[in-house]
Amino acid sequence: MNKVNLENVVRDAYNYARSFENDGNVASYIPELFKADRDALGVCIVANNGKIYKYGDCETRFTMQSISKVVSLILALQTEGKEKVFSKVGVEPTGDAFNSLVRLETHTHIPLNPMINAGAIAVAGVLDGRFPFSDFLSLLRRICGRDDILLNERVYLSEKASGMKNRAMAYMMANEGVIEKDVEQVLDVYFKMCSVDVTAVDMAMLGSVLANDGVNIFTGERIIDSEHALIAKTLMVTCGMYDGSGEFAIRVGVPAKSGVGGGIMCCVENNFGIAVYGPSLDAKGNSVWGLKILEYLSKELNLHYFSGSKIKEYF
Ligand code: GLU
Repeated sequence: MNKVNLENVVRDAYNYARSFENDGNVASYIPELFKADRDALGVCIVANNGKIYKYGDCETRFTMQSISKVVSLILALQTEGKEKVFSKVGVEPTGDAFNSLVRLETHTHIPLNPMINAGAIAVAGVLDGRFPFSDFLSLLRRICGRDDILLNERVYLSEKASGMKNRAMAYMMANEGVIEKDVEQVLDVYFKMCSVDVTAVDMAMLGSVLANDGVNIFTGERIIDSEHALIAKTLMVTCGMYDGSGEFAIRVGVPAKSGVGGGIMCCVENNFGIAVYGPSLDAKGNSVWGLKILEYLSKELNLHYFSGSKIKEYF
């Protein structure tokens, strides 16, 4: 079979997405996020042949937002261990919006999974180092292979000032003993982790490390334990796209995590880390054009885990 030229595929995926009307909205509930260019769009693939394919706005910085939940979970698993982490957060999908607090009123009061706000705040509450945010930043920098990944101070302050619903959840969890530390400090770590500036290339690197069992394909360095990578990817499948995870699993069928900054990070086992950036979001919080790009790539390259055909060979 003829190999496909990935450079052309990413360009075609980008143009395919752009052929649709941009009918989404940039997130505005965090005022600083609303400043993003609603028509920005980028796609990047880090492939196991050692090449990076990109098209569009791949150097534009955007904040990780919920994609940080994957990294904070991995950090917590690494530093605190599975048992402790999963005594404070579950592993089941919610079907509710990412910022819902209704399920916190269950008998256990433990949030359903670490990919939603309540769950990630509980995970931030588990992180026990003296400087949990610097630990997070160091891990992220190693994953992305870039030392100058930084906090976006303006977004962080904007989140801190506007994050009343997150605050409500955190206090509810503290009331039930799910969070045992100073609530404002825990929230501060959570807001900071959401407010780290990255590019689509960085997020495709994160996807690549996950796709390769926790190993950086460029250096051969193991950064994430195999078991932790497996847990993260599984939760990305079941809960990574908010309450749109089921539909995404049918239409695209790869582990993915999206963020309200407009990023979606995906991985394709032993092949690709993929990231898209497009800040215009649908009602569930997922990038409208980003989803179109991923649908295109999935079909074009046979990426769906149940596609029945092998992933196309590429160069
Ligand atoms: N920082 C955002 C919040 O707490 C993250 C939401 C998201 O990306 O889903 O609401």
